[in-house]
Amino acid sequence: MVDPDQADGSLEPLAVDAEDPPEVHPPLLIDVILAVDIGGTKFAAGLVTARGELIARARVEVERDVGPESHYTSFATLVTEMQQQAIGQGARIRAVGVGAAGPVTHQLETISPVNIPEWREFPLRARLQELTGLRVFGDLDAKALALAEGWLGAAQGQPDFCAMTVSTGIGGGIVLDGELLDGESGNAGHIGHIIVEPLGRRCGCGAQGCLEAEASGLAIEQITGRPPSEPTYEIMQRTGTFVGRAAASICNSLDLQLVVVGGAVALGFAATFFQSAQVALDENVQLTYSRGARIIPSRLADSGPLIGAGAVGWRGVRRAARGVH
Ligand SMILES: [Zn+2]
Repeated sequence: MVDPDQADGSLEPLAVDAEDPPEVHPPLLIDVILAVDIGGTKFAAGLVTARGELIARARVEVERDVGPESHYTSFATLVTEMQQQAIGQGARIRAVGVGAAGPVTHQLETISPVNIPEWREFPLRARLQELTGLRVFGDLDAKALALAEGWLGAAQGQPDFCAMTVSTGIGGGIVLDGELLDGESGNAGHIGHIIVEPLGRRCGCGAQGCLEAEASGLAIEQITGRPPSEPTYEIMQRTGTFVGRAAASICNSLDLQLVVVGGAVALGFAATFFQSAQVALDENVQLTYSRGARIIPSRLADSGPLIGAGAVGWRGVRRAARGVH
């Protein structure tokens, strides 16, 4: 996991424009990651220290029905604003860390977020490098959240767990033996595509009865005709049951005892969701190693995605210092 003590702490002299009045530079220089979260409905940016403190944040809603460059303009404005805030706070940005909705290619060379249809194979990494002049490290948003949960959240210090986001879509990240799983293309952990209802709804991936097709915010809206922010008791229970069922498959197949769940839908449905999820999990984890597995809420609340993006950035800085790519 990200260990701040191992982060490369070498300090380069700060380039100071001789014409700037000296009082605009506060005396203390903090190293930060410029963290960026690209979700289906919003862009968020923040500054994350090596201890995981989020010292600034801002967000902008993703506009609907505009072209790819309009999206990029509002995104770039947000990133630039965060660079200005770093200067104002006496922080030095070591790199950019990004968590993005999938699918993506390695290190976010391109991203194609399902809920931003105008961005298909959008060359995010090159554009961000060009914009900021900084190194850019990126990963899937749910994998970033898994890093954050293991670093500072509900799975702190745990070598084996699964983190999930139940939001507009459903994603996940799996940490086994202390390592976040990447997979061949970097997309490991797409647990929204575990089949939970064999005769269920058709999923965007082409399969039938995937967790995402039954329990995501988008699916809930299609099933009930109401946004997930206005749920019935039954839909909260049903969503929890499906998520718990998927969690059981993960625990049984990967030898896990802990599933941490974040995302606006799960956290919004709160205790009703988590109780139903735990009941479904209990019913389906009967093996000696999986019995007693727990499903619990993220402790990072709405800071999780940005802290996760920060963790991706710090991991990149640390790996670059070791010559690992
Ligand atoms: Zn699917």
